[in-house]
Amino acid sequence: MRLSRYFLPVLKETPSEAQIVSHRYMLRAGMIKQSSAGIYSWLPLGFKVLKKIENIVHEEQIRAGHIPMLMPTLQSADLWRESGRYDDYGEEMLRITDRHGRDMLYGPTNEELITDIFRSHVGSYKDLPMTLYHIQWKFRDEIRPRFGVMRGREFLMKDGYNFDVDYESAMHAYNRHMVSYLRTYERMGLKAIPMRADSGPIGGDDTHEFLVLADTGESEVFFDSAISDMTLGDRAVDFDSRDDCAAVVNEWTTPYARTDETHDEALYNAIPEERRRTSRAIEVGQIFYFGTKYSDAMGATVSNNQGEQVPVHMGSHGIGVSRLLGAIIEASHDDKGIIWPEGVTPFHCGIVNLRQGDDACDGACENLYAALTAAGLEPLYDDRKERAGAKFAGMDLIGLPWRITVGPRGVKNGVVELTSRRTGESEDLSAEAAVARIVEIYAGI
Ligand code: ATP
Ligand code: MG
Repeated sequence: MRLSRYFLPVLKETPSEAQIVSHRYMLRAGMIKQSSAGIYSWLPLGFKVLKKIENIVHEEQIRAGHIPMLMPTLQSADLWRESGRYDDYGEEMLRITDRHGRDMLYGPTNEELITDIFRSHVGSYKDLPMTLYHIQWKFRDEIRPRFGVMRGREFLMKDGYNFDVDYESAMHAYNRHMVSYLRTYERMGLKAIPMRADSGPIGGDDTHEFLVLADTGESEVFFDSAISDMTLGDRAVDFDSRDDCAAVVNEWTTPYARTDETHDEALYNAIPEERRRTSRAIEVGQIFYFGTKYSDAMGATVSNNQGEQVPVHMGSHGIGVSRLLGAIIEASHDDKGIIWPEGVTPFHCGIVNLRQGDDACDGACENLYAALTAAGLEPLYDDRKERAGAKFAGMDLIGLPWRITVGPRGVKNGVVELTSRRTGESEDLSAEAAVARIVEIYAGI
């Protein structure tokens, strides 16, 4: 993409309504525009990152054997009356009446709808286990929408639902989700720690939240520092193997890590003192096992291998896709702007032309642009007639992890400058070598 042809409405002033850094940078970098409280338009740069995040979530769900689909945003109130949640859910549910006077709602979550789909089409244990998921907009009429996409009213969520014939099989689904979530967040460059949590209005006993440590987070967490050094990495996990998944879950749930709702002072004090940590944190996902809560209420049964009708065991598993943009920025920025991890960056590399209109510089930039594009990468070429300082400040703000700078002196000497946004370190090298380096960096991502 050439910046002269892109739509990147960068703001010079710091917007006064934004209280936290991710919200400020998302507005300043022209990623989002508020349309009403807690509801945003996703401008091209923000939309690009949102799609990258969505894509990682899809890939990791499919890797775990879960099946993508799409349910609507608007739902009939009737299903929610069956489960009893139409009255229980409260003010956060946006209720709508259609022209025929029928009660509808904008879905805050999808347990009822998916249970209805399941009971209509599945009747035997032979069709199980099954996990269906979708990535769809949700609406929760939050009393205090704030912090930009972190606590929106309309927000994008991945929500998945497992259907299993018994408790053991449902716990395998729970474990599979935990493993797939660990990998999902790692690919986004995030450290998200699973912590034992409280289940809230979804109901159920077994639940973990995934939390990203950040001063601006709304949750309070307590943990053993041993867990902050753990990584899943690219180890091979067989998602069909109960033992494989359980082993990973066991490893990750052994060190103490809890939110304030389930915090246990005695257990916490049993951790060696130098490893005790408390922090603020952002919830970026949650997994639940809730057994037969919805299948009992809505009559979702299957025949088991003895021919008896049994209620299906379920769980639901959510990732805050749009909130993740804010969480990633909170975890990765400096005073000049965002620093995107390679896995989610909107463009792979920036190209800055220090003397637009100079034939040699323009030619070198065009060649770089063509070579990176031919390698399947997306560069963002700042081809505007602007001062060097303004171009650098813009690139730093939008946070592409790599920048290639082309200037008249370098071109004369046959070199360009490759700069890391994260470390600020620069290196002079030939254009070919710079392209080869960028290609190599993204090869494993
Ligand atoms: P919170 O406690 O932050 O209100 P929740 O526990 O009610 O969230 P879940 O039902 O667990 O939310 O939804 C799954 C995920 O969706 C959450 O982990 C979070 O990342 C995201 N999410 C929830 N509410 C919002 C919101 N208002 N804006 C953006 N993302 C949200
Ligand atoms: Mg939650």
